[in-house]
Amino acid sequence: MSAPLSAAVLPFLPFSRPTIDEGTIAAVGDVLRSGWISSGPRVHDFEQQLSAYFGGRPVLTFNSGTSTMEIALRVAGVGAGDEVVTTPISWPATANVILAVGATPVFADIDPAARNIDLDQLEAAITPRTRALIPVHLAGLPVDMDRLYAIAARHRLRVVEDAAQAFGSRWHGRRVGAFGDLVSFSFQANKNLTTGEGGCLVLNDAGEAALAAKYRLQGVTRSGVDGIDVDLPGGKHNMSDIMAAIGLGQFANIDAVTAHRRALARHYFARFGAGFESASGARLPLADFEHGNWHLFQIILPDRGPGTRAGFMEAMACRGIGTGFHYAPIHLFSLYRARGYAEGMFPVAERVGRLTVTLPMFHAMTFDDVERVVAAVESILIHARVPR
Ligand SMILES: *Cc1c(COP(=O)(O)O)cnc(C)c1O
Repeated sequence: MSAPLSAAVLPFLPFSRPTIDEGTIAAVGDVLRSGWISSGPRVHDFEQQLSAYFGGRPVLTFNSGTSTMEIALRVAGVGAGDEVVTTPISWPATANVILAVGATPVFADIDPAARNIDLDQLEAAITPRTRALIPVHLAGLPVDMDRLYAIAARHRLRVVEDAAQAFGSRWHGRRVGAFGDLVSFSFQANKNLTTGEGGCLVLNDAGEAALAAKYRLQGVTRSGVDGIDVDLPGGKHNMSDIMAAIGLGQFANIDAVTAHRRALARHYFARFGAGFESASGARLPLADFEHGNWHLFQIILPDRGPGTRAGFMEAMACRGIGTGFHYAPIHLFSLYRARGYAEGMFPVAERVGRLTVTLPMFHAMTFDDVERVVAAVESILIHARVPR
């Protein structure tokens, strides 16, 4: 098979790529030359700025979004014997942290339109052992926060929002993170705001922040004559000033990043046009321009049997375009099958997990790039009608 002409003349377009400006690179250099490269003044400054952004709520930074979520569960008092209800369509971290604190993950199926956890099924999965809920704002689109927090209040449950993908998202005008219970963000390389690796947690009050700070660094607390004690088995989860310098540079641009991603998403919808879904059998994401930050632009492929997605991704790669999939259903991984989960339990998640594809979406992308992606998708799904 000969590669299409476009692959020969255009550079490869990845599905995601971080944008780090020269000012940020210089700021990292300053940290490296300063003699203080671990947690210090930059981390403090970053946490202050984040706290102001989230309406003055306490914010702590961490070395990953996974650490952030695990410590959120510990702060919420979740442990052995507790159940936590979550979605099977997420990165494995969402469920793995529940196991890490000794609790039991309980999955509920997703809603096929938003692809987030279905809140009716979430409520149906609550038992007397349920202690907390972990909704995921997939692709940056928030779950219905009014309904979520009404359910949590009705059953007296803690909420740890997996807002890893939702920095810059809003719920009816309010920033995700500026309200609610414990809200966890990731700053991993592909996220809208990155520190290379990292995360932050928005908490309710100074007491929770002090507890999270102890879990973050070996359980160390200031007390006694020598000013140090350890009173719980904390770990090593702190962010360095090198990471925080990247975060400060990224944070300064976050509104422009969100606006550009929204414009790219609008262009995707305009170029696919009203007839795309019926002509291709594929499904576009919800055209919600009020709430999400467009972390990912995902389509659901028409089901053409086993290998549908692999064939599509390969055909896109032949056209010089990278794609990804987010995510394979967690309950079908062997770790979770061994705990009693099996095929057929969450049919919507299983279908979406098999057929979802992430198209390119990142800050340095142009409208021309969007047009190139749309032309490639249409040539595969509509004109050729063979994904393999
Ligand atoms: C990125 C991500 C995480 C984990 O964050 P890390 O920083 O990679 O540990 C968790 N949940 C979701 C939905 C994510 O996208």
